[in-house]
Amino acid sequence: MTVAGPASLYADLDVVAELDRPLGPLTWYGVGGPADVLIHPRSVEALSTLVERCRRDAIPLRVLGSGANLLVDDEGVDGVVVLLDDPAFKAVEFNADGLVERMRVHGGASMERLVTECARRGLRGVEQMSGIPASLGGAIRMNAGGKFGAIGDAVEAVAVVGTDGELRVYGRSELHFGYRETNLPAGVVAWAVLRVEPDDPVACRKRVLDIFSYKKSTQPMGAASAGCMFRNPTMPDGSRESAGKLIDLAGLKGTRVGDAVVSMEHGNFLAFDRVKGAGHASAADMRRLVERVQAEVLQQFGVELVTEVVFWRRGEATG
Ligand SMILES: Cc1cc2nc3c(=O)[nH]c(=O)nc-3n(C[C@H](O)[C@H](O)[C@H](O)COP(=O)(O)OP(=O)(O)OC[C@H]3O[C@@H](n4cnc5c(N)ncnc54)[C@H](O)[C@@H]3O)c2cc1C
Repeated sequence: MTVAGPASLYADLDVVAELDRPLGPLTWYGVGGPADVLIHPRSVEALSTLVERCRRDAIPLRVLGSGANLLVDDEGVDGVVVLLDDPAFKAVEFNADGLVERMRVHGGASMERLVTECARRGLRGVEQMSGIPASLGGAIRMNAGGKFGAIGDAVEAVAVVGTDGELRVYGRSELHFGYRETNLPAGVVAWAVLRVEPDDPVACRKRVLDIFSYKKSTQPMGAASAGCMFRNPTMPDGSRESAGKLIDLAGLKGTRVGDAVVSMEHGNFLAFDRVKGAGHASAADMRRLVERVQAEVLQQFGVELVTEVVFWRRGEATG
C-alpha cells in the first residue's frame, strides 16, 4: 500500500477515508487504478482543512465528480482524491433565500436528478443539461453543455474552497463561462446558486425529454465513454469545427486499439467495447487510441485535436 502522507492529514477530521481505493468503478470509463487515499468529507469545514493541509504538505489533491469526463490511468493516482458523496454535499435547496427563482445546489449533487426534479416542480433553466451525466461541481468546472446551452447560463454564484482552504463566493459578474471552460480559480466547487423560472411542469418535462431524445439519437449514450473525447478545434477563420466530423472524414470511425474503439455512431466518442473487452479494457489502450486519432487528424487536416476529457496519472499535475 502506498501511503499518502501521514494519516494525521485527515485522521482528526470529519471524513471517511479509504486507502488504495480503486477509482475505475467510480468513472464512466470503468478503468483505472486506485487512489492512494479516497476521502469523503462530511462538511465544508472538514473539506477546507483537508485542502489547506494538502497544500501545506505538498500532497496532490484531486476532486472526483461523477467520473463522466475522466480517464484514470491504470496505475491510479498519487495523493488524495476527494469525493463529495456525503449527503451534506448532495443537497439541493429550492427556494434559496426565500426566492422561487433561486436554488442552492451542492457540489456533489447529481445533475441528472436535478434536471428531473426541476421539471417535476415546473422550474425552467437547467433543461439544457438533460442527458449530460455530471455532478454539479464537475458540470461547473467543465461548463458542461451543448447545442441547447450550458450550465453557465444558469449560474448566479459559485462557492469554491480554494487551494488555501478558504471558501470564497464568486458572483455572476466575476464569472466567465466559455466553451467547456470557466475562469473559476483552482479548488473544489462546494456549491452554486442557480437561477430558474417557474413554468408549466408539462412544458418543462417535454423540453427535458425532447433534449434527451435528441442526444440519444445523435450520441451512443450507453457506451462506456466519457462523452466527447476532444474539444471542437478553432479553425484559422475563427469558427469552430466539429472534432467528430474531422475524425469521420479522416476515416477513423471503428479504429481500435485493444478494447478502445472510435464509435461508429459519433466520431468524437472514444469508448470501450465492453462485449469484446470482457473486463480487460485498459486506460493505456485508450491513450494509444487518442494519440492515433490525434496523429491522423493532424496529418490529414493539419488540425491539432486537444482532449476535453481529463486524464489523471501518477506524478502529473492535478487536474
Ligand atoms: C454519455 C456521456 C455523454 C456526455 N455528454 C456531454 C455533453 O453533451 N456535454 C458536455 O459538456 N459533456 C458531456 N459529457 C461529459 C461529462 O458529462 C461532463 O464533462 C460533466 O461535466 C462531468 O462532470 P463529472 O461530475 O462527472 O466530473 P468528473 O468527470 O468527475 O470530473 C471532471 C473534472 O471536473 C473536476 N471536478 C469534479 N467535481 C468537482 C468539484 N466539486 N469542484 C471542482 N472540480 C471538480 C474534476 O477534478 C475533473 O477535472 C458526457 C459524458 C458521457 C459519459
